[in-house]
Amino acid sequence: NEVPAIRLNNGTLMPQLGYGVFQVPDSEAAHAVGAALEAGYRSIDTAAAYRNERGTGRAIAASGVPREELFVTTKLWNDRSRTWRREDVLGALDDSLGKLGLDHLDLYLIHWPRPMRDDFLTIWKTFEEIAESGRARAVGVSNFRPADLERLGAESPLVPAVNQIELHPLFPQPELRAVHATLGIATEAWSPLGQGKELLTLPAVTEVADRHGRSPAQVVLRWHLQRGNVVIPKSVTPSRIRENLDVFGFELDAADLAALDALGRGPSAGRIGPDPAVFD
Ligand code: NAD
Repeated sequence: NEVPAIRLNNGTLMPQLGYGVFQVPDSEAAHAVGAALEAGYRSIDTAAAYRNERGTGRAIAASGVPREELFVTTKLWNDRSRTWRREDVLGALDDSLGKLGLDHLDLYLIHWPRPMRDDFLTIWKTFEEIAESGRARAVGVSNFRPADLERLGAESPLVPAVNQIELHPLFPQPELRAVHATLGIATEAWSPLGQGKELLTLPAVTEVADRHGRSPAQVVLRWHLQRGNVVIPKSVTPSRIRENLDVFGFELDAADLAALDALGRGPSAGRIGPDPAVFD
């Protein structure tokens, strides 16, 4: 039941399954992240925007897990009030590290491209510096579209290690995954369970789950892992936190995978979260 690691394009190893802390209030984050670390998760995905870096840091400190065994991701919140300059980015990194109680991150992501702001190239140039200084072992992006990745590639020699995007069987993002494969970018799926709503009730999912004697969430996570995605399911319920990690003792066959692939709803119909083209 060991979580496999994938090798990012700069050689860094990243656990293929981690724990996401979105929508967990700071006051509950220490407890929730503590339960995840106790269950055996070693990768934690938070963000400045989630306002729970402090609680996450408290759980990390209290866990006693050696720093080198952990993989901690946070994200730059390029908030809507301004266009970001180099100093803003470095200040935001200091702020996140201080709250987390860490001297370096394993992965630092630009949270959204905000193409209408036209500042992600400046931010990425500063991320190059951050990667060089070792204050993040790897840097990447989130919610970047093919056009955004193309723009980065034209301006910077540094290819993002990861693009963290909305991805689940209803919204499988084939175009972006193909671009990632070409460029050597790891695909990390957010809302991997489709936020635990309709997706987990669909017959295609529950039938595969019944056949394997597993839960719908476990089957969906297995689909991601076998398709090569990094996943970061979220739950604050200890039994589900454990269940979502217990996905390495069974395998989907080609027919199971095809049944889940068939749930894709096309370029925009399956999306649950915001559209990066307009999210500001
Ligand atoms: P998710 O797909 O992980 O769904 C989480 C919800 O599913 C839970 O709140 C719960 O209601 C349900 N659930 C969890 N485990 C279950 C189980 N075993 N059985 C039944 N139901 C279960 O959605 P999410 O929280 O939106 O995404 C996961 C993580 O992705 C977040 O915590 C965050 O770290 C990251 N994320 C990133 C972005 C971004 O813009 N980069 C956006 C959204 C989320």
